[in-house]
Amino acid sequence: MNFMTRPIEALISLANLGHNFAQARHLAPAAQIMAVVKANAYGHGGVQVAGALAASADAFGVASLEEAVELRNAGIENPIVLLSGVFGRAEMREVARYGLATVIHCAEQMYLLLDTVLSQPINVWLKLDSGMHRLGFDTEGFCQAAVRLRAAKQVDQLTFISHLACADTPAATLNERQLQSFQDSLARLIVHANESVSLANSAALLTRPDMHFDRVRPGVMLYGVNPLNNTEPLPAEIELRPVMTLRSRIVALQTVAAGEGVGYGETWRAPGALGSPSAQSSRIAVVAVGYGDGYPRHARNGCPVLVNGEPAPIAGRVSMDLLSVDVSAIANAKVGDVVTLWGEGLPVETVAEHSETIAYELLTGVNQRVKFTYF
Ligand SMILES: *Cc1c(COP(=O)(O)O)cnc(C)c1O
Repeated sequence: MNFMTRPIEALISLANLGHNFAQARHLAPAAQIMAVVKANAYGHGGVQVAGALAASADAFGVASLEEAVELRNAGIENPIVLLSGVFGRAEMREVARYGLATVIHCAEQMYLLLDTVLSQPINVWLKLDSGMHRLGFDTEGFCQAAVRLRAAKQVDQLTFISHLACADTPAATLNERQLQSFQDSLARLIVHANESVSLANSAALLTRPDMHFDRVRPGVMLYGVNPLNNTEPLPAEIELRPVMTLRSRIVALQTVAAGEGVGYGETWRAPGALGSPSAQSSRIAVVAVGYGDGYPRHARNGCPVLVNGEPAPIAGRVSMDLLSVDVSAIANAKVGDVVTLWGEGLPVETVAEHSETIAYELLTGVNQRVKFTYF
C-alpha cells in the first residue's frame, strides 16, 4: 500500500463537541456557559472549536490576548474572557479595542486597568484566591478591589470568580473550604443585581450543582474527557464522547524471536528465552507516530492502541516518529492497517494513565505536523 503522506492524523468530531456542550447545558440549565478554548482549544483547533460552538456558548475562555484576537479575526463575536488577565498596559488597551473581558487577579493588574484610558469600558472578572494559591486576591484585597472596580469608569460589568484546586477529587475537603471562602467573601461585598459569580470547571459542573452559580466554565469535558480522575463515574445519564481521534497506520511488520528486544534501550523483549528454538516468535507492528507528534514518550509497555479496532499493547520505548506494537494476538495485521492511538474506542484517559500524565496534557500536546480533519 502506498501513502501520499505520513499517515498520522487527528479526526475532530464537531458533532461530538456539540453533544458534550449539550451535556453541560443539561447539567447546568440555569447557568451561562463559558466554553474554555484556551491552548488552541485543548489542542483541537481554537478557531474551529469556537466556530462550532459560537451559536450555543455564552462566552469563550482563553489564556492570552493572542488567542482572543485569533478568534475575533476569525469572526467570533461572542464574549471572550482572558483567564490569566493581561501582561502589560498595551494589552489592556487591546482588550477594550477588541471588546474582550479580562480576569484581574492581583493589585498590579488592577492598577494597570485603573491607570489606563480605554476606548470603551470592559467587563472584568475579579478573582479570589479561595485556597488554590495560584492566582487571585486574598479576601481582604478582593473586597477592596471590588469597591475600586465598581467605581471605575473603565469597568462595565463585574463577575466574581474563583478556581478550584481539587474539583477532580470530589471527596477532597479543600472543595468545601474553597466554597466557604468564596461565599464568605461574596457575602462581604454583597453581589449587585448586575454582577455575576463563577466557580465551576468541568469537574464541579459534573458533580456540584451547588457550585454552578451564574456562569460555569467547562473545558476538558467539552472535548469528551471525564475530569473526575477516573476515580468517579460520571453522573448517570451523562455521556461524554471523544472529540479527537488520533490515528495512524502500520508502516512495517517485524517477526521478533524469543528474548530479542525492541526499540531504543531494549525495554521490551519478546517472551521466551533468548535462542530458545521452541519458543514462539512475536509479531511487531511499527506505527507512524511518536513523541514528535505528541504521543507521550512516557507511555509504558502495555499501553493499548487499537489495530483495526482491536486492542494491542505497545512494545518498547516510543521514539520520535515511530512506535512498536505487539500484534502477535491480532490475526493478519498488515502494513497500511489503521491504528487508533486514542479517541473513538480508546479513551485518551487510558493512554494518560499508562503515561504518568493527564488527558489535558496529551490533547494539548498534539503537534503541528499532525494533519487535522474536521467533520
Ligand atoms: C482551564 C480553566 C477552566 C476549565 O477547566 P477544565 O478542568 O478543563 O474544565 C476553568 N476555569 C479556569 C480559570 C481555567 O483556567
